[in-house]
Amino acid sequence: MKFADLHLHTQFSDGTFTPEELVLQAQKNGLSCIALTDHDTVEGCARAATACEAVKMDFITGAELTAEHEDIEVHILGYFLDINDAKFLARIAQFQTVRQNRIREMVAALNRLGIQLRAEAVFELANCRSPGRPHVARALVKEKLIGSLDEAFDRYLKKGRPAWVPKSKMSALEAVDLIHGAGGLAVIAHPGLNRTDDIIPQLVSAGMDGIECFHTKHSTVMSERYLEYADKYRLLVTGGSDCHGYSKARPLIGTVRLPYDHIEKLKAAHAKRK
Ligand code: AMP
Ligand code: ZN
Ligand code: FE
Ligand code: FE
Repeated sequence: MKFADLHLHTQFSDGTFTPEELVLQAQKNGLSCIALTDHDTVEGCARAATACEAVKMDFITGAELTAEHEDIEVHILGYFLDINDAKFLARIAQFQTVRQNRIREMVAALNRLGIQLRAEAVFELANCRSPGRPHVARALVKEKLIGSLDEAFDRYLKKGRPAWVPKSKMSALEAVDLIHGAGGLAVIAHPGLNRTDDIIPQLVSAGMDGIECFHTKHSTVMSERYLEYADKYRLLVTGGSDCHGYSKARPLIGTVRLPYDHIEKLKAAHAKRK
């Protein structure tokens, strides 16, 4: 049996692995195919593709776009993206700028609380175009301004906490169109985590191609529920570990194993779209 993991992050967003380390981990875990889905960026895909080619592993380009619909945050995975598509790159660059400005706002809020963190320290640590709250948390720990990543979120960075800053997001409908414009398939990420059930029909009408039924934080009951959605709305089925490397305890890669017939169906759907 061959298996895939279609939800993975690297250092190009908030994961800790380089693309090469990620591919090595995928190999160790006996995976035959991976997709890289960094937040709002495809920067790591070229290196991941090269590393996969060297070990004869299937690679699917991807990204996880942070979007919203009716005030609900929804993450949309794009697969088989043309990573050189100028329009796609220009639009996600704007959201990378939003992320960078948000880091400055979060650091300013921390400074107002008397915490001496510099935005540059966060950017140096993040060393990518798509920084996020985990980088602020890691910088706080690194500078010994807090004891742990969890404490950083609990005290300062969680929604409603004093250094939390809302993020302006693209609409989910735009995200779907943007992914299609770059030749990709759009998949709703971890629906079990974002209270998105009520808006799934609208996202399907907007052209959503698939649904992430299998995810680290989905219970068996949840996965079964979303398999029923997939059946009802004729959506492709995907799954992945959402591995962020060593940032959260053990790396999760290998814990969600998507059977290969789903990969064949995704490839067929992508070929049909072209
Ligand atoms: P951002 O995109 O900047 O809002 O950051 C979202 C990232 O922060 C996601 O990858 C989450 O896994 C991570 N995150 C969110 N809440 C927490 C938390 N309470 N503890 C640790 N990580 C978190
Ligand atoms: Zn993340
Ligand atoms: Fe997500
Ligand atoms: Fe993710």
